[in-house]
Amino acid sequence: MRDIIALKCEECGEINYSITKNKRTHPEKFEVSKYCKRDKKHTKHKESRDTIKN
Ligand SMILES: [Zn+2]
Repeated sequence: MRDIIALKCEECGEINYSITKNKRTHPEKFEVSKYCKRDKKHTKHKESRDTIKN
């Protein structure tokens, strides 16, 4: 089962990206440097516990 994971900016807390991943095969926290529109620069984005609600 793949879950939609929110990627949250560490600096402003904005959720800028989302990924899908299999929590069973990748239980570790996902962390990546991505561009934040609010900060207008690349910041560290961490997996958030919040799920994307549609
Ligand atoms: Zn930010």
